Amino acid sequence: MVQRAFNLSPGPAILPLPALEQARQDIIDYRGTGIGVMELSHRGPEFEAILAETEALLRELLGIPASYKVLFTTGGAHQQFSMVPMNLLTEGLTGNYLLSGLWAEKACDEGRKFGSVHVAGSTKEEGYRKLPQIESISRGAAYLHYCSNNTVIGSQFPTEPDCGDVPLVCDASSDLLSRPIPIERYGLIYAGAQKNLGPAGVTIVVVREDLLSRSRDDLPLMMSYTTYAKSASLFNTPPTFPIYMVCQVLRWIKAEGGLAEMERRNEEKAKLVYDVLDSHAVFVPVVDRGSRSKMNVTFRLRDESLEKELLRLTEARGLPGLKGHRMVGGFRASMYNAFPIEGARALCDALIEFAERHR
Ligand code: PMP
Repeated sequence: MVQRAFNLSPGPAILPLPALEQARQDIIDYRGTGIGVMELSHRGPEFEAILAETEALLRELLGIPASYKVLFTTGGAHQQFSMVPMNLLTEGLTGNYLLSGLWAEKACDEGRKFGSVHVAGSTKEEGYRKLPQIESISRGAAYLHYCSNNTVIGSQFPTEPDCGDVPLVCDASSDLLSRPIPIERYGLIYAGAQKNLGPAGVTIVVVREDLLSRSRDDLPLMMSYTTYAKSASLFNTPPTFPIYMVCQVLRWIKAEGGLAEMERRNEEKAKLVYDVLDSHAVFVPVVDRGSRSKMNVTFRLRDESLEKELLRLTEARGLPGLKGHRMVGGFRASMYNAFPIEGARALCDALIEFAERHR
């Protein structure tokens, strides 16, 4: 038996063991072909079946209607920060951005390079410790972009912001598939795989088909959504192994009970940890109560000189990856879908032990 850590890393992050075990076999010999999954041609029947199954599982789990395309791209969420305005921010329209943290800001900065941008709301002045509301949407809005889960500060929108008929665009890199969402509320939603979906290297984009017609014809090929949509993400060589891994993770999610079950588990884990933080004065949660993330639980210590001691303790308990983002400091417990409830309990035990030492 391998000893698996309760990996609290923000991403790349913990993956479900059954998915890794299946991969261990398939890396050497994919289903008796004598060829490892990484060595399969992307034009062969085996990989085409993997790609089709991955898309079918995404459609089933997320309830994606037929009027939406599912695209598999590379370049991470960062590339989507550019592709969204390149494709959707057409002449005369304005990209609206809701600023809730570092990634939302980066998306907005990238938008400015391609057209006019309007900040629809922001809590930057409050250090992003709470979620922003929409204060105004510009006339001629191309879209409203927001980030559903702010991985760095540890906040998460409980529901979609209401922007009426304006297409809602979402960076869901750190919470896609962690809970059911009404996909039909979105014009476009994207996520890098490396948190809840699989390894780094593939980015999922779900886009309402009618928005594709906005794209200019003269975009660089690999920056145009149309290129991916027309070729079923097989225009160039796609990231075959990351897609295969996403497929294994989706199978696991389905077998475990789908997104409603993921949400139930994620709520349970987050509640356990927030309850411990709230009941011991040595801990200071970073984010306001109503804005807290169920994926990334962030906190500081009342006495920051004790930070190294807490990290040593959690690491000794098999809980690596608790150190906070360098821009926020303190601690961040990232507990994505594959992070087990036993891990949340072990973290709580370590936190309580620490709190009792430093009452
Ligand atoms: N958006 C969010 C919400 C993220 O958490 C991250 C990465 N942690 C990014 C964007 C950037 O992703 P990438 O490094 O894959 O471009």
